[in-house]
Amino acid sequence: MYQISRSIYRELEAEIVEDRQWIDGPSNHEKVLRACEAAVHRLTTDRHYFARPSRTLFNDIRAFFPMSSQLHVYRVVDRYLSFASDYLATRPTAVLELTGVKQECRATTRKGTPCQRMPLPHNGYCPSHQHLAETEEVALAA
Ligand SMILES: [Zn+2]
Repeated sequence: MYQISRSIYRELEAEIVEDRQWIDGPSNHEKVLRACEAAVHRLTTDRHYFARPSRTLFNDIRAFFPMSSQLHVYRVVDRYLSFASDYLATRPTAVLELTGVKQECRATTRKGTPCQRMPLPHNGYCPSHQHLAETEEVALAA
């Protein structure tokens, strides 16, 4: 999964505008790479609360590219992040394999403790809490 952030960066790095070399601190190249890594990390670990990954990453990095590159930047970002998102949504064990962190259901039990059952990958709730995912979709659509 972390290859994805590097792939995004590699496809875009030639177009990055670097106009502050004389200032201390991270270069624009480094800022773009860090933003890609942060977006992929968030997508991997917090996908269900990350509503528009492509738009978010694009907004984070677009300032480092010339006007003529904006559409290409968005397309590259969207292609890789959509791929990553589909991958995570269709492979229940992907997050565990990638992060070593076991995914748990997003719901809270009646006792107020987190539900620890294995969630379904497409919405992050276990089979007995699927109704919460439906409520959420209604709330989003409203
Ligand atoms: Zn549950």
